[in-house]
Amino acid sequence: MYKNLCDLHSHSDCSFDGTLPAREMCRRAEALGLKYYALTDHCECDQYDGAPEFGGRKYRDAVRRAWTEMETLQAEFPGIRFLKGIEIGQPIQAPDAAEDALSGRGYDIVIGSVHGTRGKPDFYHLAKALKTEDEKNAALARYFEDLMDTIAWGKFDTLAHITYPLRYGYPAGSHPTFDRFQKELDAVLTALIESGKALEFNTSRLLKTDGPVLPDREVYSRYYALGGRRVTLGADAHGANGIAKGVPEAMDLLREIGFTEYTVFIGREPHSVPLA
Ligand SMILES: [Zn+2]
Ligand SMILES: [Zn+2]
Repeated sequence: MYKNLCDLHSHSDCSFDGTLPAREMCRRAEALGLKYYALTDHCECDQYDGAPEFGGRKYRDAVRRAWTEMETLQAEFPGIRFLKGIEIGQPIQAPDAAEDALSGRGYDIVIGSVHGTRGKPDFYHLAKALKTEDEKNAALARYFEDLMDTIAWGKFDTLAHITYPLRYGYPAGSHPTFDRFQKELDAVLTALIESGKALEFNTSRLLKTDGPVLPDREVYSRYYALGGRRVTLGADAHGANGIAKGVPEAMDLLREIGFTEYTVFIGREPHSVPLA
């Protein structure tokens, strides 16, 4: 059993797909004995002022609400180190929106995400339309381009769920990989290391039985071999049951690879915490 359990990626009902109020998420995190806990509600920058094709949600309003709710939580839950976070999706598609979401708010941690590439829907929706291997590979090629541009944009702390496009369109129990994109994956991992940003270990697919098994151990081994040492841990919970799920297993895996610490961000500064 680990004493330094954490979860730096979590959604309250300030996210369209979250089910519990922020306060209740924190109460659960404290009960689990987490050392560090971050709420990181969505800001899909390409939908900051609404987009009819995505249901018209306005992330400008969601970001403001999430920030207001987070402001008092540390005082209410002294048993955990609560971190105020945000998951910034597709910042390169709308950098002004990303700038607006981040400015004037003292976030502890900013997660950078690519859920969909330029002009295309979220992989969650896109996967159904990708019928052939060629179409899948073309979508992955675009994904790696957007990851590189996101790292170049750079106003985030940790890169979320790198295997996100492999979550959808693959059978349950399968183990999809980036095998055909080793060169592109290396380029992303190297750029990340050179930028000083962290790589997230998103544990939400680690114990899942009704989808493909992710993320790939190979990704973290490769990151380590290339010199990467900054890994954040996040279960990407959207309700009470998912908080810190898979984090102990991820810590086991990181230790097997050779990591001795994980990274947390406090006031956007990285801090190392022993994998213990
Ligand atoms: Zn995400
Ligand atoms: Zn998320």
